[in-house]
Amino acid sequence: MSDVVESGTDELDMFVPLVTSIPGVAPELVRIAEQYWDLVDIDADIGPRWQYGVREIDTAGWGRRLHVIAAAGARATLTDIACPECDQPLRLRTRTDLATLVTGGRASCVDCDPRMGEAIDLILDPARAVKRARAYERESLQRAQSEARCQWIDRCDEIIATCHPVTLVEDFPGPAALRTELAVLAFLRYAPSQGPLTPLVHWQQHLHPDIAQETVLLGDAVATGLLGIHPDSPPDAFVWKQSYDEALRAANGDLVALAHPALTSHYYPARAVFYARHGTSTATALANTDEWLACWLAHPDRMKIEQERAELLDVAGELMADEAVRFFNMQLERHHLPPTPANHRRRLHDALQKAALHRTLGQLFSLGYRAARNAAASAQEHQRAPLANMSTHGVNRFEGDAHRAAAEPDWRINGFPTLYGMELAAMTRTLFLTVLDLNPLSTSGTEIARIVTADSAPPVDQDHAPSQQQPRPGDIPAPRAPDDQPANASTTANRS
Ligand SMILES: [Zn+2]
Repeated sequence: MSDVVESGTDELDMFVPLVTSIPGVAPELVRIAEQYWDLVDIDADIGPRWQYGVREIDTAGWGRRLHVIAAAGARATLTDIACPECDQPLRLRTRTDLATLVTGGRASCVDCDPRMGEAIDLILDPARAVKRARAYERESLQRAQSEARCQWIDRCDEIIATCHPVTLVEDFPGPAALRTELAVLAFLRYAPSQGPLTPLVHWQQHLHPDIAQETVLLGDAVATGLLGIHPDSPPDAFVWKQSYDEALRAANGDLVALAHPALTSHYYPARAVFYARHGTSTATALANTDEWLACWLAHPDRMKIEQERAELLDVAGELMADEAVRFFNMQLERHHLPPTPANHRRRLHDALQKAALHRTLGQLFSLGYRAARNAAASAQEHQRAPLANMSTHGVNRFEGDAHRAAAEPDWRINGFPTLYGMELAAMTRTLFLTVLDLNPLSTSGTEIARIVTADSAPPVDQDHAPSQQQPRPGDIPAPRAPDDQPANASTTANRS
C-alpha cells in the first residue's frame, strides 16, 4: 500500500497536474479535458491511474484524438517541473508523457510541439464546426436508434412472457394422433438440451426424415396440449405485426412516434422453445410425458384397436419411405447429381411406403443405392444430358424397383445391415428402438404388423377393457382436454 499515494503527500506530488481551462473555448472541450486529466492517484510502480478510461470519454463529435481535444480545452501543468525546451512550467501533452516523467523519463510541453499546435488549430477551426455538428448528430442518432432497437427487443420479450406463460396441468391431454405423440417423444428424447428444450432449428439431427413435416408435427403437438410454447422463446420465433425496421419506416424514422411491438397469433415452431406441460414443474412434466408416451405409444390395449394399429403401420411406412428418399438424395449428391425433383417426390415416396409394408429399410436403402449408382453411370454415358434428367432417371429406376419389391415378395434383395454416413431421424429411431424395440434396418412392415397384432392378442380383464373411444393404459389417468391451450397454434413457416 505504501507505494500508492494521495496527491499532496510526498515527492510524487510534483506529478499531479494543475488543470486550467482555456478561456473562450467551447464548454464541451473543457469538459473533455477535465475528464482526460482526472487523476485518481499515482502509483510508483504502475504510474498514474485515471478516473476515466479513454474509451469512456464521450468526444461529442470533436474527433478521435483525445489528447489533442483535451489540449484544445485546457492545460495540465506540472508547476514544479520545467520544460527542457522552453524552461517554462511543463504543460503536459499526453497521459503517456506523464507516465514517462514519473518513471524518470523526459517530455517537453504541449506548446513546444508544433504538430500539436497544428492539430489543435484544426480542432478549433470554425469551418469544421458544421461538419463536426453533423457528425455528432449522426452519431447521436445511431446511438438513439440502437437503444430503441434494444428497447424494442426487451418489449418483445415482455410480451412473449405475458402471452406465453408456463402453464402446467395435472392430467394428460385429450386424444392426439399417434404420429404427433411419437414426434413429441422423439423431441423430448433427442433435443440436444432439455433445460430448456433446444429449438429444432439448432438441432444437428432431423426430427422427421422429411424436414417439411417437422413444423407441422410440432404445431400439432402444441395444438393438442402435449407441448407448450415457453416464455423464453426468442422474438424471432413469432410473427409480429411489424418488425422494428418496418415500425421505424412507418414512423418516418421518428423514434418518439415509434409504435410498440404487437404479437400475431402465428409462430415458427422450429424456432420456439417448448416445454412439456403435465406435471408440477417443467422437470417433472418432462419425465411424466416421456414415461407416459413411451408406455402408451404401442400399448397392447391401444394396439387392439384396428385404427390405431393401422396408424402405427402407416407412420412406420411413412418414416421408412422418407428415410429412403433422404438416403437416395444423399447418394445422388455423392455422385454430384441434383436431388429428387420436387414434382417426383410424392410419387417416389408413395411407391416406397407401399414397399415398406413388405420390405425392410435396409432393403429400401439397397434399392436407393443401386438407383443412384445407375443414374451416375447414365450421367457418365450421356455427358451432354442435363444432370436433372439423370436424377429423374434414377428416381424412375428407384420407383420401379420399389413397386417390384412390393409386388414380388420372392424377389431377393440384400438389405444394408448397417448405415454409414447418415443418421436416422429422431422419430425413426424412437419408433424402432424405443417403442417397438426392433432393428430399424432389418424390420419389415410385415413383421411390425405381426408383432403389434400378437402383442394385442392376450384377453383383457373386462373391468379394464379399453373404451372404443380412446383407450388408455389402466395405471395412467384418463385423458382430459387441457383448458388452457394456446390461443392459436397455426404453423407459419418452415425451419430456415
Ligand atoms: Zn515547452
